[in-house]
Amino acid sequence: MTVGIPKEIKNNESRVGMTPAGVFELVKNNHTVYVQSGAGEGSGFFNQDYQQAGATILDTIGQVYAMSDMIVKVKEPIAEEYNLIQEGQIVFTYFHFASSEALTNAMIKSKAICIAYETVEDEDGTLPLLTPMSEVAGRMAIQQGAKYLEKPVKGKGVLLGGVPGVSPGRVLVLGAGTVGIQAAKMAAGLGAQVTILDVNMKRLRYVNDIMPSHVVTGFSNEFNIRKHIKTNDLIIGGVLLKGAKAPNLITRDMLKDMHPGTVIVDVAVDQGGCVETTKPTTHEDPIYIIDDVVHYCVANMPGAVPYTSTVALTNVTLPYVLKLANMGWRSACKLDGSLEKGLNVVEGEIVYKEIAETFKLEP
Ligand code: NAD
Repeated sequence: MTVGIPKEIKNNESRVGMTPAGVFELVKNNHTVYVQSGAGEGSGFFNQDYQQAGATILDTIGQVYAMSDMIVKVKEPIAEEYNLIQEGQIVFTYFHFASSEALTNAMIKSKAICIAYETVEDEDGTLPLLTPMSEVAGRMAIQQGAKYLEKPVKGKGVLLGGVPGVSPGRVLVLGAGTVGIQAAKMAAGLGAQVTILDVNMKRLRYVNDIMPSHVVTGFSNEFNIRKHIKTNDLIIGGVLLKGAKAPNLITRDMLKDMHPGTVIVDVAVDQGGCVETTKPTTHEDPIYIIDDVVHYCVANMPGAVPYTSTVALTNVTLPYVLKLANMGWRSACKLDGSLEKGLNVVEGEIVYKEIAETFKLEP
């Protein structure tokens, strides 16, 4: 099969759909890989790295789309790419169809095979191609939170690890899922006192089993949240209600109970956020302040660390890419139920129920 790796053209996207290591594996399996010139530069991978791994470098995005049976990328195609996608071509990427009718209609029109990373689903209901980005965001949340606790950027002026003779900072983590556990782990590693709240006792038991004793668990309810926000320096929002808007666990009136300079990193901002005052921000302008509380609400946190994010993403996508290339999409999806769940729009038809329902079309 011929596999194409175009350069991402969505604003501020520096990740790339495949690393040279991925190219190497595909070429070893007798596939041809076309990489658009400069596609990996934002992630620290250069043309010569791809060439050494066996790829052919093409000058333009048009050539990559025209010559490839399968396109592997990161973000959903944007309008300039719609007409490049061909009938019968496999496009394997994040699509998030439900949030764009224009994209959905364009992919129906293209008659391509659109397999969405975000709906590939394991038997236990986990989403293996979303997990690494939550891992990145969870870890980064503490890095960013620690930075914005500094006084020159309007934080409280607290060093999370403390120093001998001074108590460490306090971190409250809402949600003990992937984001929450990674955040708690990083905060604990810095020496902070960590409290992690969830409504799922299984998650809390797990956290209690694996974390050091300065990470304590608690049940997430309004009473406990109101109590903890008064004493914590950094609050991480990592809750998720699958397919729904995040619940507002911290309401506007609670901000006045926090110390001035408290920092909230609401990672759940992409699902509306778990803080009433959350609104999406960008890496260029990541924070704003309400009632003396610093809000960091960047919706694509992994975009700031494209090297780590690209490698983390391609570690998990490559096994599926190999299956698709080796077997073709029909056989690969027949054999692998997780991958089959990734089929969203196939040869002009929406085949994923929730997307069809979103646009009131028959699946
Ligand atoms: P997850 O499903 O692994 O974990 C979510 C956790 O929230 C679960 O343990 C669940 O029990 C818990 N929860 C649900 N209701 C709760 C409540 N009322 N109180 C406390 N906990 C509650 O999800 P995840 O992968 O950790 O993702 C968390 C959020 O972060 C999602 O919205 C995801 O889209 C987002 N995210 C954002 C970025 C970014 O760049 N901003 C990057 C990756 C992920």
